[in-house]
Formats: sequence, C-alpha cells, structure tokens
Amino acid sequence: MGSVYTLINQKGGVGKTTTVVNLACWAALDGRRVLIVDADPQGNASSGLGVNRKALERCAYDMLVGAPDGSPTATASEVILKTGVENLMLIPATLNLAGADMALSTAIARERRLRQSLEPVRDDFDLIFIDTPPSLGILSVNALVASDFVIIPIQCEYYALEGVSQLLNVIGIAQAQLNPDLRIAGAVLTMYDSRTNLSEDVAAEVRADFEHHVFRTVIPRNVQLAEAPSYGQPIAIYAPSSRGAKRYYALYKEVFSDDQA
Ligand code: ATP
Ligand code: MG
Repeated sequence: MGSVYTLINQKGGVGKTTTVVNLACWAALDGRRVLIVDADPQGNASSGLGVNRKALERCAYDMLVGAPDGSPTATASEVILKTGVENLMLIPATLNLAGADMALSTAIARERRLRQSLEPVRDDFDLIFIDTPPSLGILSVNALVASDFVIIPIQCEYYALEGVSQLLNVIGIAQAQLNPDLRIAGAVLTMYDSRTNLSEDVAAEVRADFEHHVFRTVIPRNVQLAEAPSYGQPIAIYAPSSRGAKRYYALYKEVFSDDQA
C-alpha cells in the first residue's frame, strides 16, 4: 500500500505546490507509481502539470462532495488523470473545489472523506502526494487525516516560522483525534538565496528552533523552478540540469531512500 505524504503550511507561496510536483515527478522518473492529489482550489499543481482545468468535467470535488446532499458522485479511479510524465497520475482540482469547505461543513464523516476516497486506489500507487491550500480549513484537515507523513515547506524569508506553531497544533489535534499514525517527516527549507545573509540566518534559525527534523537538502531560489509551471511541466522535464531540478532530486533521495515504497 502506498505511503501518503501531505505538503502543508497555511502560509501562502512557501513552495508547497512546487515541492509536491517536483518530488512526485522525480519519484515517477525513478520508476515508482505516483499519484498527486490536488486538494487546493487554486489548482496550481494541476495547471503546473499542463492540465487545462476549465476543460475538466470532474475533479477532486466530485470525489469528496459531489451531490448537493454531500454524497460523492465519483470514485477516485474516475477522477484520476494521466500526466505527461510516465508513472505520474493526478487527481485534479477545479474551482469547484472552493465549494468543498461549505459543503463539507455539514457532511457526515467530513474529515475522513479524502482518506475514504483514496482507500480503493492506495494499492495502485507506491507514493501519493497531497497538495494543500494556504489555510487550515477542512481540505487541509482531510489531507492530514488521509496521510502517513507530513512535510512542511518553510520559505527562507522573514517570519519563516510564523504560523508554524499553529500548524503543529492542528497536526497534533489531527493525530490525537483522527489519525494517530500521522508522522511529521520533517521541514524543507525553500527558496534559499545564497547571495543574501538573510537566507543563511533564517536557515540557521529554523534548524535551531524547529522542534522536528529539518531535511539537510535545501531548495535554492531558482528561476527555472518558477518558469516550469507556465510550460505545464515539472522541472525534471523542463530543465533537468538546472540547480532546482538537481536539488529536488537530492531532496527526493533524502526523503525516500529509507522508504519501503
Ligand atoms: P500557495 O500557498 O499559494 O499554494 P505554495 O506554497 O504552493 O503557494 P508555490 O506555488 O510552490 O507555493 O510557490 C510560490 C511561487 O514561488 C510560485 O510562483 C513558484 O513558481 C515560485 N517558486 C517556488 N519555489 C521556488 C524556488 N525554489 N525558486 C524560485 N521560485 C520558486
Ligand atoms: Mg500551492
């Protein structure tokens, strides 16, 4: 059964989506069967993989909420799409997913919807990555409940750790009440700029203050990483020899070398 990883940080623009897409892509290129679940109504992981979201008939919403009474109208297999990368599949998000917050607020077993809908396809994948929105709402809680591991991207910027204690609280509540098997794999430092002292200071501060593991591999600020999504491609395809691509490969190796998947 595939391991499920959620990339989460309620702070916006810290590199959640970039990390999901690029870890998933390297894992797929390494021969693992990989699924990305786009649980963010912004749909950045979907468009970053070249999916035309407006043309989609179904998305994660139909699998999580679906009908007006809150009962799902599609199974995971029905919403899974192939991507341009072999072994890499996607459950996309359209703007419909923005309605999930409201619709799920009255639904039964609302925190477990994602876990339940992924259950039938977990055996089909070695790794599943969930991309979450910049909030700690019901979609993020669903992701935590559906996951084995959490990875927290932290941007090397001022106030890097702002909100992290709130995030750890929510993870703790999810562990205590809904998913006792959930583990924090670690934090990953993103958008490190080697030309500034700030990045260095922030990285040192995070390594000193963050109470969980911080991965050795640091993701640099790299223009190709920012460009790749507009071509609908992960960096490993768009610019395989760029620093961004290489660092994400190193991160992939670091996170998954001991993994049984
Ligand atoms: P949101 O909270 O809105 O979902 P996010 O946490 O998913 O954001 P990303 O979308 O991955 O963050 O990154 C934010 C922006 O920064 C994007 O435009 C992305 O292309 C760019 N970006 C991410 N990582 C890097 C990097 N290492 N170097 C340069 N640009 C990056
Ligand atoms: Mg995102």
